[in-house]
Amino acid sequence: MGTRISVQLWHQDKDRGETAVETVMEEFRRLDRKLSPYIDSSELSLVNRMASLEPLVISEELYRLLETSLEYSTLTEGAFDITFASIGHRYDYRKGIKPTESLIDRSLPLIDYRNIRLDADKGTVFFEKQGIRIDLGGIAKGYAVDRGIELLQRRGVQHALISAGGDSRLLGDHRGRPWHIGVQAPRDKGNMAAVLPIADSAISTSGDYERFFERDGIRYHHIISPDTGRSADTLQSVTIIGPNATRTDALSTSVFVLGAEKGMALINRLHDVETIIIDKHGKMITSDDLADLTQ
Ligand code: AMP
Ligand code: MG
Repeated sequence: MGTRISVQLWHQDKDRGETAVETVMEEFRRLDRKLSPYIDSSELSLVNRMASLEPLVISEELYRLLETSLEYSTLTEGAFDITFASIGHRYDYRKGIKPTESLIDRSLPLIDYRNIRLDADKGTVFFEKQGIRIDLGGIAKGYAVDRGIELLQRRGVQHALISAGGDSRLLGDHRGRPWHIGVQAPRDKGNMAAVLPIADSAISTSGDYERFFERDGIRYHHIISPDTGRSADTLQSVTIIGPNATRTDALSTSVFVLGAEKGMALINRLHDVETIIIDKHGKMITSDDLADLTQ
């Protein structure tokens, strides 16, 4: 998944604890093989090659993930949109490659989640336009973290932390105390903008400093606004705290695209999530019920 995975847990039995960690790592490898857009044999790559030709039968797991992604598209009025990849796949942030402005403008109509048709009875996906591509990068790490936590719970683990890059979930507390999770300062690598005491929750951060390059004073980064086909440029980072990592992952990407005002309105309307937004001037804004936590 192009990111560092970390698993911490308590188990009375050292060998069983180590096996549990290995089970989580294997689950991440399985999901990477299935969902990576960079692996030709992944199910996701197959969908990108075939789904605009005819409805394609897909695995139940991928079907559910697509369904969940579309639910977030509806909830966020299109800010979360896995068809961002129709343009997004033309960027290579490591090599500093970007599509031309005219190619972005021409491809913009391909970004629209309403062109993805799911058929629950047949278990198929169909893209209604040629050239559409999808990428689950905004939700798959959170999903994998949730899957990992589920596997640990089945093994009787009660205290654990799994993180995959900016997405983490905590099972239980840190043996009687909350876990302390840092929110990275976007323009000051290695330093924290806040440290949050939390337990039994998930936390995700989306930032413009994770994958980016700069050219002519413009920062090209990996979170794409479906309205413009270009990097969302009103914030530096968004952190979401909520019940599970699939939700916090999808919502952190969404709020990053929505910006401070619309993003905050959405989070304050949802009762199970809180947010810390750092705007483009480095100013921190928190949702209604989080203020006490961060003082
Ligand atoms: P995150 O770090 O969770 O915010 O995820 C960022 C990743 O989400 C990017 O690397 C893309 O793979 C994907 N992504 C970018 N823009 C969008 C968008 N508008 N909707 C859904 N996923 C996106
Ligand atoms: Mg995300």
